Amino acid sequence: MKYIDPHIHMVSRTTDDYQRMAQAGCVAITEPAFWAGFDRSSAQGFYDYFRQLTEFEPKRAAQYGIEHYTWMCINPKEAEDIGLAREVMALIPEFLKQPNVLGVGEIGLNKNSKNELLVLEEHIGIADAHDQLILVHTPHLEDKLKGTRLIMDAIERNGHIDPSRVLIDHVEEHTVQAVLDRGFWAGMTLYPDSKVTPQRAADIFEMYGTERLWINSAGDWGHSDPLAVPKCHVEMLRRGHPAHAIETISWKNPLTFLGQCEKFNVKDD
Ligand SMILES: [Zn+2]
Repeated sequence: MKYIDPHIHMVSRTTDDYQRMAQAGCVAITEPAFWAGFDRSSAQGFYDYFRQLTEFEPKRAAQYGIEHYTWMCINPKEAEDIGLAREVMALIPEFLKQPNVLGVGEIGLNKNSKNELLVLEEHIGIADAHDQLILVHTPHLEDKLKGTRLIMDAIERNGHIDPSRVLIDHVEEHTVQAVLDRGFWAGMTLYPDSKVTPQRAADIFEMYGTERLWINSAGDWGHSDPLAVPKCHVEMLRRGHPAHAIETISWKNPLTFLGQCEKFNVKDD
């Protein structure tokens, strides 16, 4: 079955992963800018990373018939140093013009700190000034519900951001309703043994429906699974969900949300 994985960090994955994803039906992915597992020492390190995301990685993906899109930001884990964060944010407008960049992300909070919130607000300002889609990371370590509310408040405080142009990722059972109620899109990240498992995701679809909701693998350099999305499809089928429900969460919904950016070129045929 054809699908889109809207959040996966392919710079950390091998070509074998691209091959297995293509075999499982993946036709497009979107890759938010994120933490590399260590703190970069200068804005130049981010500049090189942004070039990798916009120049090299799309070519690597294309070899497997997968379209590669990306999002620009400095992630919340490296946002404590406001000076560095501002140097990196100054690079972003130039990269927003690249043909595979869909917007600003994954921005958000990690420890819900004051500096993280300041950098988040400045990213929201960039998205507003350049009319960009937003992809949001919500905290795993500190209070997720509190962090999710702080992020939604910051977006609403900006006053110009349409919530239907914002996807709030890493939602769980206790945050999904609050996100949907405020008009945002919600993403569930499927991890083998932390975050949401394919089984828990299926439970959440059964409780909250499929409107404005999608799944992703968020595969990265840690213990994660680039085939988590098709594994969730198998779980949904096993439970008797119809094929069109799976098509909604992993095809129609990503097409609708991502298609709000005219650069997103995947067609519904
Ligand atoms: Zn991520």
